[in-house]
Amino acid sequence: MDLDFTTAEKEFRAECRAWLEAHVPRPPLPSGDTREGFAAHLEWERALYEARYSVVSWPKEYGGRDASLWEWLIFEEEYYRAGAPQRVTQNGIFLLAPTIFEFGTPEQRERVLPKMASGEQTWCQGWSEPNAGSDLAGIQSKARRDEAAGGWRLSGQKTWTTRGAFCTHLFGLFRSDPDAERHRGLTYFLVDLSAPGVTVRPVQRLDGDEGFAEVFFEDVLAPDADVLGEPHQGWAVAMATTGSERGLTLRSPGRFMATAQRLVELGRDRGADQRARDRIVDAWIDAEAYRWQTFWTVTRLTDGVRTGAESSLVKVFWSELDVRSHELALDLLGERAEIVDGPDSGWMKGYEFALAGPIYAGTNEIQRNVIAERVLGLPRR
Ligand SMILES: Cc1cc2nc3c(=O)[nH]c(=O)nc-3n(C[C@H](O)[C@H](O)[C@H](O)COP(=O)(O)OP(=O)(O)OC[C@H]3O[C@@H](n4cnc5c(N)ncnc54)[C@H](O)[C@@H]3O)c2cc1C
Repeated sequence: MDLDFTTAEKEFRAECRAWLEAHVPRPPLPSGDTREGFAAHLEWERALYEARYSVVSWPKEYGGRDASLWEWLIFEEEYYRAGAPQRVTQNGIFLLAPTIFEFGTPEQRERVLPKMASGEQTWCQGWSEPNAGSDLAGIQSKARRDEAAGGWRLSGQKTWTTRGAFCTHLFGLFRSDPDAERHRGLTYFLVDLSAPGVTVRPVQRLDGDEGFAEVFFEDVLAPDADVLGEPHQGWAVAMATTGSERGLTLRSPGRFMATAQRLVELGRDRGADQRARDRIVDAWIDAEAYRWQTFWTVTRLTDGVRTGAESSLVKVFWSELDVRSHELALDLLGERAEIVDGPDSGWMKGYEFALAGPIYAGTNEIQRNVIAERVLGLPRR
């Protein structure tokens, strides 16, 4: 077993590190979950794209470098190590793009992927509805066939749409066959948010950022060319997206390794006592464990094995690790954790966002159901 990176991979790491050290914006950009911050982040995305770092693992024809999954992991480690900005394009490049590579037509790939890579088109996820979150198959937004117009008429409401107020496009699930069994009558659409009949209403989060939106559809025309996968087969397409969301791409180990390293530095600065030092070591070990677990996943993927329900284990692990790590930072900071503008203020903001980790991408209760039934094979009741 060879546990080292190749010479080419080490060179790639050095190249990424040098570029990021020279280009990461200082001081950090304002939150990408505000209108002004989102615009600043798009400029950063443009710089990444021009240096061909925005989507390293994609084929060159769509703006990538044809990098291997190993190189992608290396890039991610370097990205977080450098303290580079959050990726406001993430729902497109990490969730939708893998689904388009798997289910998209050549025309859809040509049309969507290069603009997604450059940040010209930004994508949000339109799945949750006021009465359908965990029970995604319970969505009520409808797609009605309009033969004369050559497409579908969309109506209904989506909610909790991350950065929906700033994005140009939405990928969403709509009920296209009301008579079919719940999972069979759904279709996956790529929707232009500037289409007539779409209304986007920003929703302010507890931390003050307009990170969410509600999106309303009134007879919006979605042409046939904007159906991803086959009509009424949207559930299978959506499950491919959730595999990416919970498993490999949404939260790579580099993010948690960088947090653990910052905890080590915080512990040194704050003179952590023995108990706090033990917790820092635990966070660091957990981040490393997640890194090696991811290496195992990538090894299997490159051997042609498809990942499945075990991505739920990964999602529970990283989301709980993120909460623990941020709680520890707040304990180390003591009363200073409350200061919103100081040099350590990122920990509180990070903590507030970490609390959402066990909810988004499917709640951890739902993940535990999946693990019980589909990984451990336990009976449903
Ligand atoms: C930060 C953040 C970003 C988000 N971004 C998006 C986005 O971009 N697009 C989008 O579509 N959605 C998004 N969501 C919504 C998210 O997907 C939903 O909040 C989530 O799926 C839960 O749905 P719900 O809020 O309707 O809660 P509910 O489904 O009503 O669940 C309420 C509680 O009941 C529990 N529960 C429900 N069913 C079961 C069960 N069968 N067994 C055990 N427990 C159960 C849940 O775990 C939860 O604790 C986001 C959420 C957050 C917090």
